[in-house]
Amino acid sequence: MISVFDLFKIGIGPSSSHTTGPMKAAGCFRASVLKHPRSAGIVRIQVTLFGSLAWTGKGHATEKAIALGLIGCLPETIDPDDANKRFADICATGRLPLTGDHSIPFRRERDIVFDLERILPGHSNTLTLAAFDADGRALVEETWHSVGGGFIIREGEDTAAQASQVAFPFNYRSAEELLSLCHANSIAIADLVLANEKALRPETTVLASIDRIAAVMFDCIERGIRATGQLPGGLNVQRRARSLHERLNSADQRNFQRPHEAMESVNIHTIAVNEENAAGGRVVTAPTNGAAGVIPAVLKYYRDHCPGDPQQGERTFLLTAAAIGSLCKMNASISGAEVGCQGEVGTACSMAAAGLTAALGGSNRQIENAAEIGIEHHLGMTCDPIGGFVQIPCIERNAFGAVKAINAAWLALRGDGTHRVSLDQVIETMRQTGADMQSKYKETSRGGLAVNVPEC
Ligand code: SF4
Repeated sequence: MISVFDLFKIGIGPSSSHTTGPMKAAGCFRASVLKHPRSAGIVRIQVTLFGSLAWTGKGHATEKAIALGLIGCLPETIDPDDANKRFADICATGRLPLTGDHSIPFRRERDIVFDLERILPGHSNTLTLAAFDADGRALVEETWHSVGGGFIIREGEDTAAQASQVAFPFNYRSAEELLSLCHANSIAIADLVLANEKALRPETTVLASIDRIAAVMFDCIERGIRATGQLPGGLNVQRRARSLHERLNSADQRNFQRPHEAMESVNIHTIAVNEENAAGGRVVTAPTNGAAGVIPAVLKYYRDHCPGDPQQGERTFLLTAAAIGSLCKMNASISGAEVGCQGEVGTACSMAAAGLTAALGGSNRQIENAAEIGIEHHLGMTCDPIGGFVQIPCIERNAFGAVKAINAAWLALRGDGTHRVSLDQVIETMRQTGADMQSKYKETSRGGLAVNVPEC
């Protein structure tokens, strides 16, 4: 089973697959290097990026992520401002401090290689890392796949065997199995997920961690609304969340009554998070960084506009959303490099729709219905970020995903849970559609908007 805290991870932007994943892989490689009996003799590390990592790695700050991982930084704890400063220091000094007393020379253009020609077997997001001694012998070599949402797999590692060591009370692989388990035990989806989490950690820890995830999401919205200026990267994209927020507030002060006000707030909150992500700020991967704005904005919609106990509702929301995200990950993909944006914003929309439906008291069948609607209307959506930056179309696309999630939840809540297309069928359709999609539409910036809109 996939934990709630594997799907919701606190990290930094702009990408879970191209920033968080490579940083974690570099950190694991560093641990292997330091364990090697001749680690003191290592004088150079070279990292080679393949496939989507090579094509869009520059726009996704992959070099910075790898350098920081190699010096022991972790995505969940590093301060975003400190991350920029430390990478600037590495580039300025040309030294990579592996430990306090062992640093090696580092030149980003020599030591991080973007192989634009090859895709290695296993996954389109692959990186190889090698550490050399003074004679040019590779003492440590590893290959890692960054498979989306910050998940990484070391080549040859049996992740299934590791996972099977934990005895979860409820095992499911499909939405139908999930619903059957809930029905047989007369419990809600959120309670089933909580029971599984308790196999990993105490309930108080689980609930406190969920509250922390929600708090970081709301903080990110607040920071995004306060920030101004241009996003990094050279596309000259201006941050908009603050000006949109100010215009909405000034209309409020003149007592304009607008039927779409809640929707405007959702747009602003989503854009605020995605702008923070694009700027390399602190975000919650949900289930990826590119799609990080959808769930916080819908969670805030719940807090601001819906009745009920906010803390309990937010816990129910996030636990339920995690069940849907894990179904998408297990049976299709949450990686834009594997199935296009339907797997990122489509999955986030589905998770948010299910979470909101649950928080509003929907039945398990209504939750499954909302999740299905959320994906169905993202099927076929490609990943084509301009210049490889997680900005256009990603930022606005999240806002549309959030609005669709709310619509999906209310459509499901107005029904009785009976519907024609099942969540399992739509997830399988997403998998098949992703498999048929040409690679130029899967986070390579070689098709779609990325080729039709000239970079500034
Ligand atoms: S287009 Fe979608 S999948 Fe691609 S980087 Fe942007 S948000 Fe992620």
